[in-house]
Amino acid sequence: MKRVRTNLLILMTIVATSTSAAPRIHFEVSFKEPQAHYAEIKMEISDLRQEYIDVKMPVWTPGSYLVREYAKHVESLEACNADGTYLPVQKINKNTWRITSNKSDNVTLNYRIYGFEVSVRTNFIDDTHAFLSPAGTFMYVDGLIDHPVDVTIIPHAAWSKISTGLEPVDGKPNTFRAADFDILFDSPIEVGNQDVFTFDAAGVHHEIAMVGGGNYDKERLKADCAAIVEEATRIFGVNPNKRYVFIVHNYQSGGGGLEHLNSTVLGASRNGYQNERSYVGFLGLVAHEYFHLWHVKRLRPIELGPFNYDAENYTSSLWIMEGFTAYFDNLLLRRCGFLNESNYLQALANDVNTVENRAGNQVQPVALASFDAWIKYYRPDENSANTSVSYYNKGALLAMLLDLKILAATKGQKRLDDVLRSAYNVFYVERERGFEARELQSLIEEIAGVSVADIFRAAATVEPLDYNGHLNAVGYELIDYNEGRESPDLGITTSANDGRIVVTGVTRGTGAWDGGINVRDEIIAVNGERLDANGRELNRLMQTAAIGDELAILVARDGKIRELNITLGKDNKGAFSIVPLQNATPEQERLGKIWLSLP
Ligand SMILES: [Zn+2]
Repeated sequence: MKRVRTNLLILMTIVATSTSAAPRIHFEVSFKEPQAHYAEIKMEISDLRQEYIDVKMPVWTPGSYLVREYAKHVESLEACNADGTYLPVQKINKNTWRITSNKSDNVTLNYRIYGFEVSVRTNFIDDTHAFLSPAGTFMYVDGLIDHPVDVTIIPHAAWSKISTGLEPVDGKPNTFRAADFDILFDSPIEVGNQDVFTFDAAGVHHEIAMVGGGNYDKERLKADCAAIVEEATRIFGVNPNKRYVFIVHNYQSGGGGLEHLNSTVLGASRNGYQNERSYVGFLGLVAHEYFHLWHVKRLRPIELGPFNYDAENYTSSLWIMEGFTAYFDNLLLRRCGFLNESNYLQALANDVNTVENRAGNQVQPVALASFDAWIKYYRPDENSANTSVSYYNKGALLAMLLDLKILAATKGQKRLDDVLRSAYNVFYVERERGFEARELQSLIEEIAGVSVADIFRAAATVEPLDYNGHLNAVGYELIDYNEGRESPDLGITTSANDGRIVVTGVTRGTGAWDGGINVRDEIIAVNGERLDANGRELNRLMQTAAIGDELAILVARDGKIRELNITLGKDNKGAFSIVPLQNATPEQERLGKIWLSLP
């Protein structure tokens, strides 16, 4: 361990001047082989003096509710003391290493991490840049999660910039400090040659770090992001940050985001910025992740913090955190003028279509979808559509119902904004803790002056949502253009694979479900007609078929041929839109204008 020996003199000097100091932890990250997707991590632990030290790698990162087993990308972990003597290291479980440190003043760990997964919550390192997802990069000492930590980044020779929400340490180049490991794990780091530009809004200095190039218009982006920042800050009344960093990863085709306390990581399509629809979609992602800096990062369910980095952290309230955020992201776009009334209503109707046309909506309550995110939402399979519902879409619809109910009950004096502002002050600022769902319900009822038990009950059950009961009160209605339509549905989704039509999904309660069609069946022929590579015969047949028709479907399954007899049932899928209510009263219209920020 050469590097450790050369630092010996410096380490000894520090120890000599701080014999009874609190333990200190310092990381140094360097990149010897970025082209092979590796980063070198040196972790120095000073003044701990224990018989042994357990160091741990988180198994997940907050905001993304899946055990990702970050430790699987750790290799070559070694430990030594200040004079360079190797210390015994024993792995005691999947993400814990026990260092027999024999009360050493200084222990240095060296390990390498591999990062080649493109996402906003995993490490990615190549010869052009490194994105460090901190929960997958930095280990913590068991029991010292609340301790401050310094991180020094040594960029690869070809790289010149570091973007992160971490605070720079004065006088130490490329060195940053986190007050504790929760903050470190919440502060992703981008190292490379990103295009960085800044704007100020709501009293906060914002940096946008564009990675991977793209056809974005900087001035337009700055102005549009500033508008979103101002509108979002208006909801909560205060912006708790001084500085905020957007790290944007531009790919050939990209999306998704992850929220953090004072930064976010966004995925985008490199050349999508000049396409209006794609650009507004990107602004929606900006609004979504920015809204989270209050809603989930600070105002949060009691189960989501302090975090357990060793295991799943269960909460039934993701429909409140992600669903409300999904409702407000589009509402922010509407308030900023990026969506007009009709586009906004269509976005809401899309959520209705997604939820109401999914068989799993009849099976899984959205509160349970929240709780089971770890094993269901983040681990979808061929049956997910039959068994689960998204807490994003359904949560957004429940947020809409709450917003409308409060608006109607208070004659437009209050709305969901007021609830969130109040909840932020009550739980985050005053009580300094998370909320329980029933406490949030009580707060809403206090503000609205009416019970919202019906809406919270709808979250805990699979009972139908009363869309029109709430939409009519503000002069709108949900209509189903498929109502009364009598058309048949086979109940499968397929994909064309190498000239074969292969079943990718079977919908619960349809003819295909009852008749035993399986996912992965290859459909060879229907009623004696051989399908071509695009399955046109099947489409043609369905266009002329009627409810109750019998189909003889020839399939290949695991190398064997079978004929299945399917009776076509009624297509129950809706085609929903939200439109102005005919003969709305002036009061209903007034409330609708408040709802949609219309003049
Ligand atoms: Zn979100």
